[in-house]
Amino acid sequence: MKALCWTGVNKLEVESVDDPGILNDQDIIVRVLLTTTCGSDLHLLGGYVPTMRAGDVLGHEFIGEVVETGSAVTKHRVGDRVVVCSFISCGKCWYCTNELYSLCDNGNPDAGIPEMLWGQAPGGCYGYSHALGGWAGSHAEYIRVPYADQGAFTVPEGVSNERALFASDAAPTGWMGADLGGVQPGDTVAVWGAGGVGQMAARGALLLGAERVIVIDRYQERLTQVEQVIGAETMNYETSEVLGELRELTGGRGPDVCIEAVGMEAHSDRIDFAYDQIKQQLRLQTDRPTAVREAIFAARKGGSVFVLGVFGGFVDKFPLGAVMNKGLTLRSAQQHGHRYIPMLLERMARDEIVTEHLATHILPLDEGPEGYDMFKEKTDGCVRAVFQP
Ligand SMILES: [Zn+2]
Ligand SMILES: [Zn+2]
Repeated sequence: MKALCWTGVNKLEVESVDDPGILNDQDIIVRVLLTTTCGSDLHLLGGYVPTMRAGDVLGHEFIGEVVETGSAVTKHRVGDRVVVCSFISCGKCWYCTNELYSLCDNGNPDAGIPEMLWGQAPGGCYGYSHALGGWAGSHAEYIRVPYADQGAFTVPEGVSNERALFASDAAPTGWMGADLGGVQPGDTVAVWGAGGVGQMAARGALLLGAERVIVIDRYQERLTQVEQVIGAETMNYETSEVLGELRELTGGRGPDVCIEAVGMEAHSDRIDFAYDQIKQQLRLQTDRPTAVREAIFAARKGGSVFVLGVFGGFVDKFPLGAVMNKGLTLRSAQQHGHRYIPMLLERMARDEIVTEHLATHILPLDEGPEGYDMFKEKTDGCVRAVFQP
């Protein structure tokens, strides 16, 4: 079959690879209908996540049709349309039974690598380096889905592929930021990043009863989507003084909940951005935490900060004093999607959550390298490049 493979730093190629097959009786094989780029894939592409190997298939957000089922699979049949959680979780270990699905003890067969990096291993993720299991990704004609009764969800009739696709990763990740960030009715919430995840965090916050939600970004086409589709307010950090304006909007206090949906390649016009970029390029630190710092500074005393952006290792100039002295709650996670996806699909069916506007460019898989270029450089108003294998 055809697959879009990472072949080196900033190098992608469509290659011919072996078809996946059932290896475990809990597997299904899915024919991929749509698969999308995610901002966190850019960290892999750029070599910021060090455990990629030439030939790895990228992609962790996808929808498809079941073509084969293992003998222990009970929830899925050949022909079903399913969306698959980007994180791989067994559903049975201590973490899974406590709804901390992305921390599954059985989803990552390469646990030794993250144990060295982070002390303990999270679960696995499709197409997301050998630190997260070395699983083949979804930018391919077919994909093997392990623990299919846990991780694959039947899409309700009437929900389009272009909408349900984002129930795989962007929507549950964003929802989790609003939910575990502790959004309460009446809150003011600020979200850094107007990509798919940031937009879904904003929508989640509104549906959880936030009174005001402000999304911060610099790309006008994404901010326009936030205003027109998501129903939140926006701030362009290139033309706004973010900290001052957030304070002004909140009677001098600052937002109750700050959600960071940017990750390790953040941009900023502040001085700390140049500092981070130089250190990152010299490999003296792995990540650029510009947006995390700003979220910590912006949050009201006693408020909370949720980090949804993907980070790999260590950062410098982390404002620990602000976290402590302002009494902030700081939380983070890879998405615990299994606890949200059925609810999100229902809300999609009721038009409470719409996502198809994110798929600004739908291309054949053969144009994968060009699609990633557009997505990375944000050319032609690209919010997400989506591939149709
Ligand atoms: Zn993602
Ligand atoms: Zn588990």
